[in-house]
Amino acid sequence: MRIGIPKERATDERRVAATPESVQSLLKLGFEVAIEEGAGSASGVHDDDYVAAGATILSQDKILGESDLVLKIQPPSLDEIACLREGSLLISLVQPERDPARLPALAARKVNVLALERIPRVTRAQKMDVLSSMANLAGYRAVIESANHFAGLFSKSVTAAGSAPPARVLVIGAGVAGLAAIGAARALGAEVRAFDTRAAAREQVESMGAAFLEVTLEESGDGGGGYAKVMSPEFIAAEMALFRAQAAEVDVIITTALVPGTRAPTLLPEDVVDALKPGSVIVDLAAEQGGNCVFTEPGQVIQRKGVHIVGYANLTSRMAPVASRFFANNLVNLLSEMRTGGEFRVDLTDEVIRPAMLVYDGEILPAPPRKEPSPQAPAKPKSVAPPPREAKTAQTKLQSPARSAWVTNVFGMVVVGLLFLLGRFAPNAFLQHFTVFVLACFVGWQVIWSVSPSLHTPLMSVTNAISGIIVVGGMLQIHGDFSVASVLGALAVLVATVNIAGGFLVTHRMLAMFRRDGGAR
Ligand code: NAD
Repeated sequence: MRIGIPKERATDERRVAATPESVQSLLKLGFEVAIEEGAGSASGVHDDDYVAAGATILSQDKILGESDLVLKIQPPSLDEIACLREGSLLISLVQPERDPARLPALAARKVNVLALERIPRVTRAQKMDVLSSMANLAGYRAVIESANHFAGLFSKSVTAAGSAPPARVLVIGAGVAGLAAIGAARALGAEVRAFDTRAAAREQVESMGAAFLEVTLEESGDGGGGYAKVMSPEFIAAEMALFRAQAAEVDVIITTALVPGTRAPTLLPEDVVDALKPGSVIVDLAAEQGGNCVFTEPGQVIQRKGVHIVGYANLTSRMAPVASRFFANNLVNLLSEMRTGGEFRVDLTDEVIRPAMLVYDGEILPAPPRKEPSPQAPAKPKSVAPPPREAKTAQTKLQSPARSAWVTNVFGMVVVGLLFLLGRFAPNAFLQHFTVFVLACFVGWQVIWSVSPSLHTPLMSVTNAISGIIVVGGMLQIHGDFSVASVLGALAVLVATVNIAGGFLVTHRMLAMFRRDGGAR
């Protein structure tokens, strides 16, 4: 099976979807790899490097027209779509909302399409998540760009000629890019404060060493799956009032506020921008989605009353070598995941692949059912029943509810019977422990079930507290003999300790991803 990697032709795009290292990994997975002539030159990779890694260099026509699998970064242009081979699979960012002609053209060409931006943000898919890997770099780069335009020092300076306080940086939106920006600004010595509508962001912001700002109005910003929702006009007004007060104090504002599928919220109106001191800087990472600042011009840096407003689109392209490497690694991880049992296939039942597949076999696929937040969703995510499965025949459709009701009834009667026998004959002590055990199972199940999958990793840290209680309980049961209670107690201590150590390790690794010092603290 041949993978083709074309040269990116979008304006200002310097990245490439494969590096010599990723080529080697793809070859190990059993693919042939062909790269378009000069595809990596803007990322500092020469054709010879690809050849040395085992790839073939071909022309654009051959890459697009003769590959089974085409890996790209930017959405394909209509010209590129016209060259793609019927039945091939395109894996790239697709962003159909930006060009309504794109998907019909791909479907007409019978090209199967996997959109990288639609890969769900679940723990299993983290290693394939190009949005996160690129946002991480963009957050870092935003700080570097702001330092470049800022007329002062980022770190505190005390010299014989005088002293300067550290720069004050406000980060609006504490998602992946925002947290990376906080980490980079802190590493440069700035004093950082941040704001986000999602309550879960507070802990992450504070763990990065920044202060978390609040508005007086209470409204949940959680839109489900870890994403934000569109806030009410009252909340946005309260936010603007907060930023207006902050603008008089801060030197740099980095805005990253986005709500998937909508235009970026306008958070920095004229009076907020005018409240900034001359020499200050705004870097608007939401520039491509309409901008968080009213004056942002996508792709441009403008000056207004001495304030630089940086609206560079595609900041990661300015770090093409490392961005290409990360992007290519995400793709290798995705392809190795799609290669099960030695065979590469598009599994439409896979919870990660299905939502990302936009076109299959000449048809534009409908979006799979997704958790929609209610207009006034409470802060705590609600558990949503899994989508109903398609029944194979009309008959099974009719029979299954009745049968499952019968099974439930019988099961219920058996459980009631067993409980009755337990209550009648079991010793009192057993009944007490049994009741606690059943309640613990029920409460534990409810707690885990109600947590959104994107938060399962941080949840591990929370379960450390429960494991701590188990360790204490287990230790109380150990009496230095080999009785059942002692052995079970020792086992409980062992398992809970493994869980605690694992939880700390995973949390430490997650935080280290955002720290510029590599988690040395
Ligand atoms: P994003 O780029 O969609 O949005 C950036 C941030 O802007 C978000 O934190 C959002 O809450 C915030 N925002 C939106 N409207 C705002 C407003 N009016 N004012 C202030 N802030 C506002 O977000 P993202 O970086 O893609 O991450 C979204 C969430 O997904 C985060 O919680 C992140 O931790 C989570 N995530 C999970 C995984 C995973 O589990 N695999 C991977 C990546 C991200």
